[in-house]
Amino acid sequence: MGSLDWEVSALGLGCMRLPQRRLNRLRADTDASIQLIRHAIDLGVNYLDTAWLYHLGDSEKILGQALGDGYRERVRVATKLPMFLVRKTEDFDKYLDAQLERLQTDHVDVYLFHAMNGGQFEKVKRLGLVEKLDEAKSKGLIRHTGFSFHDTLPIFKGIVDYYDWDVAQIQYNYMDTGIQATTEGLTYAHSKGIAVVVMEPLKGGRLANPPAEALDIMRASGNGRTPVDWALQFLWNRPAVAVVLSGMGTQQMVDQNCASADRSGINSLGDEDMRVIAQLTEVYRKRELVPCTACEYCMPCPEGVDIPGCFAILNNASGEQRRWSRWQIIRRYRRLAGSREKLDRENPNGNAAMCVQCGKCLPKCPQQIDIPNELAKAHAILAHRGKIQDYYG
Ligand code: SF4
Ligand code: SF4
Repeated sequence: MGSLDWEVSALGLGCMRLPQRRLNRLRADTDASIQLIRHAIDLGVNYLDTAWLYHLGDSEKILGQALGDGYRERVRVATKLPMFLVRKTEDFDKYLDAQLERLQTDHVDVYLFHAMNGGQFEKVKRLGLVEKLDEAKSKGLIRHTGFSFHDTLPIFKGIVDYYDWDVAQIQYNYMDTGIQATTEGLTYAHSKGIAVVVMEPLKGGRLANPPAEALDIMRASGNGRTPVDWALQFLWNRPAVAVVLSGMGTQQMVDQNCASADRSGINSLGDEDMRVIAQLTEVYRKRELVPCTACEYCMPCPEGVDIPGCFAILNNASGEQRRWSRWQIIRRYRRLAGSREKLDRENPNGNAAMCVQCGKCLPKCPQQIDIPNELAKAHAILAHRGKIQDYYG
């Protein structure tokens, strides 16, 4: 764990994809989430990551409840300052105080600036927010500091060099080695003694649901690894990775990922394994039209558009040659609401045509996707049978 003298589990629990409520998928189901969190801890997971924004605020509150009955002492808790809600220096105290209350704890083990990019970095400097980190540390409210990151390598290095961080949380998986912080950023932070915590190890679940071509490659390798295991082992193989966060929505996922973690090891993958991963990367890359990770930070859209849902359908449509599959994909898109009367306000289900291009979602997307523009293309392809190559070259 970088310079920290911590025995952390290889697998951490990311509390942004807890079991959802049946009637509102943006909110978390309290009882099922508490059970799942405690189950993960009982299996050895000891690093838990949440944020002000996750599940519209449910995540921190539920984690606070789950960590009763002695569970708090068994884990390290990380949470994040909601950077894009911070307007003035005093907001730091406002959010941290509320987060400690939600989490029912007197300290946070790692306090991170959430979704740092070039713009948020300027805000950190302008408002003197690292001084606030020092102040909170001296009061014992936070033990260690960090930032989560979504921007380019030069900005990542600038942030790394700006302060004496303990943790950097980056998006990294076998498809994203060359974007955002990149492999170079990962090793750069590691070389400075910063613990690198990986998020989006499955690229929002996409690496867990491979297309047929990728499944064939995995089968041909003959080692019986599941798609998820391939993706996780790729990360644990790297010496610079401290913890891999996984947002696990079912106890079965927890069981499977813990079993994978038990088999993990630095430098445990051989040349043949890396060749398989390179082939898988190529297959996915051919199919990715919009790099949406389904994080849902852009949700809810005020017009009820199911933004990640539209992009998932579009990405599934790309490269799909079989007529039957294409028809199924278009049918999935048609099931989304195309008019206000059919909208479900609790569970945003609108199709891309419901977007009024207000742009409110744009600053929230860590992948910097031009959401309204991409939605317009998605609708042209999925509703009007536009040719993918006409929109994506
Ligand atoms: S631009 Fe479109 S998708 Fe984004 S918030 Fe506005 S209506 Fe929703
Ligand atoms: S569009 Fe951006 S913010 Fe919305 S779910 Fe996808 S990656 Fe997340």
